[in-house]
Amino acid sequence: MAKKKPIKKEFVLNSSNYYSAEADKKYMSVSQFKDFHGTYGIPGCERTAMMRLLGLYPKKEGLPLLVGGYVDAWFEGTLDLFVENHPEMFRKDGVLKADFVKADYLIQRVQEDPMFMYYMSGEKQVIMTGEIDGIPWKIKIDSLLPDAIVDLKIVAEINKRKWVQDIGEYLDFVRYWGYDMQGAVYQEIVRQNTGKKLPFIIAAASKEEPEPVMELIEVDQVYLDEAMSIIRNDTPRIVEIKKGNEEPTQCNICPCCRKEKVLTGTVLLSQMFNQR
Ligand SMILES: [Zn+2]
Repeated sequence: MAKKKPIKKEFVLNSSNYYSAEADKKYMSVSQFKDFHGTYGIPGCERTAMMRLLGLYPKKEGLPLLVGGYVDAWFEGTLDLFVENHPEMFRKDGVLKADFVKADYLIQRVQEDPMFMYYMSGEKQVIMTGEIDGIPWKIKIDSLLPDAIVDLKIVAEINKRKWVQDIGEYLDFVRYWGYDMQGAVYQEIVRQNTGKKLPFIIAAASKEEPEPVMELIEVDQVYLDEAMSIIRNDTPRIVEIKKGNEEPTQCNICPCCRKEKVLTGTVLLSQMFNQR
């Protein structure tokens, strides 16, 4: 008797499995690309990225990300659920941690700004997939308007540029953290899904004291194009690493690598910064 073929369930990406290991294996995402490749400001680590993918090293967490998620949830109208799922927002005595009190003020402040609220009034947390040079990507859009792709960023400081040693330049927070890469991918995947090439807008609000800075930042097309060429150039290697066909390199400076670092000798002070 012929054996019945097992029915293989097709993986369908949705909001409940968007961040799952299965989704991350099947699709590239901007955060995964940044984990492997790095940004101008934050070097990547292929080995750690791979360990994250295999569930051997925790995904990024921490208070700043949690505050961002809190504000995201407010805009999405899912704040109650978010609070329920994150008891770490509260101190042991049950009082809301200062970061979230600050976030509440930030929410109040952006609510008073009609233009900010307009940009955040699009369709929320829109999931799309597409292909860039034959490689599948997934994206999740904070606010999709008919004429713009909007991403909400809660940042430490909006107007301060940061020094990037590798390129000998001070960079704005957008390129420092690789949000230009996010914009490039989002613009392309949205174009594939809707036929429209839309501008990428960052609805930014800062945690600066005593008043947050707000800005609606359109990322220049030239920066998006530059970022896209890096993505097209460097994603094939990442895919090969994910498939196990290429060996991931180790950065030796990220927390995961540092955990296993064993000193093998002394280093000359003048050479210390050339080690990477
Ligand atoms: Zn590393």
